[in-house]
Amino acid sequence: MCRVIYHPKYDLYNLGESHPFSPQRVQMVIELLKEWNLYSEPLLPTPIESEKLKEIHREEYVDIIEKVSSGQIVDDLEAYGLGTSDNPICEGMAEGARYQVGGTVLGAQLLIEGKAKKVLQLGGGFHHAHYNQAAGFCLYNDLSMAIHEMVKHGWHVAYLDIDVHHGDGVQEMFYSNGKVMTISVHESGEYLFPGKGWIHELGQGIGRSLKLNIPLEPYSESDTYFEVLDKVIKPALSWFQPDALIVQAGADAHFTDPLADNLLTTQDYEKIFGKIIEFADNSCKGNVLFTLGGGYSPIATSRIWTLLYLIINNFEIPEVLPENWRKRWEEKLNIPILKTFHDNVPAFDPIPRHDEILRTNREIIRRLMDSVSQYWI
Ligand SMILES: [Zn+2]
Repeated sequence: MCRVIYHPKYDLYNLGESHPFSPQRVQMVIELLKEWNLYSEPLLPTPIESEKLKEIHREEYVDIIEKVSSGQIVDDLEAYGLGTSDNPICEGMAEGARYQVGGTVLGAQLLIEGKAKKVLQLGGGFHHAHYNQAAGFCLYNDLSMAIHEMVKHGWHVAYLDIDVHHGDGVQEMFYSNGKVMTISVHESGEYLFPGKGWIHELGQGIGRSLKLNIPLEPYSESDTYFEVLDKVIKPALSWFQPDALIVQAGADAHFTDPLADNLLTTQDYEKIFGKIIEFADNSCKGNVLFTLGGGYSPIATSRIWTLLYLIINNFEIPEVLPENWRKRWEEKLNIPILKTFHDNVPAFDPIPRHDEILRTNREIIRRLMDSVSQYWI
């Protein structure tokens, strides 16, 4: 019972030729799967209505986005995080965003109605969008909208964010909510946008101990990620026992990502996705909804999200990239593409400070678990 969601109109969420959040990344995934004859027609979502968005975003904010996106002039855009280099004004972006939010909400509905257990939404993941402000390439918060739908249905929801940046927008919308657990593993805000996501951000009131942050040292490798999975994420989900897990599967913790420093390989992502599905089966009633997110090396990101599609569908992972796909994208991107689907091994030279980085990360994990375990009784 696995479903895939996508709409060609997601491409309208295009923030410009040179903007790193490019629709090309998903086009590469779909073209690659088509070369292998593994792509089935996805479910097509309808765009979310702007009135519906106002259940989680401020009314005035939604109205302004809709206006500027259709070419109207609005003053004081910066107060809403708009018109910046991260969030430029581009015609059609609101419609593209509403299609993508509609896709993530459709994923939530499929789980709520028992029509699927595993859903991959080939879009969304806008975890930096705030109640009243755009940020970090994000306008509308599809993840929060999907969580909101599940909570309205009476569900307990866990949100797991493996994007290399902190999932600040989602965390803050549910900071005092006792039905929502958020877990974000990211490169520390000391070095990376949005400069938040510390271990002491544990939630408020009945939400206390349900917001978990694991800020990692730059150049963190898979050994750290596997400890986070086993020592934080697994016990947290096992204790909370949510009705569903929503995953923001940003691919920007890959070692070639130009905007961040962590060092995962495609082989690591394969194991991480496998473990997340195992946790969902064991602790989240088997209900899991994956969305996309960050990932700014198109070659790495397209392979990582293809991997997710293959894993969720229980398809074998091919060893070699199709020559047609490789040549076409080498030409378009003007970058050489490796011949194998997975990264070369070893993928990068040993990191001189590896042991020190691992020690610091272990200390973060220990301090976080010390803080929350007193609440988890
Ligand atoms: Zn990111």
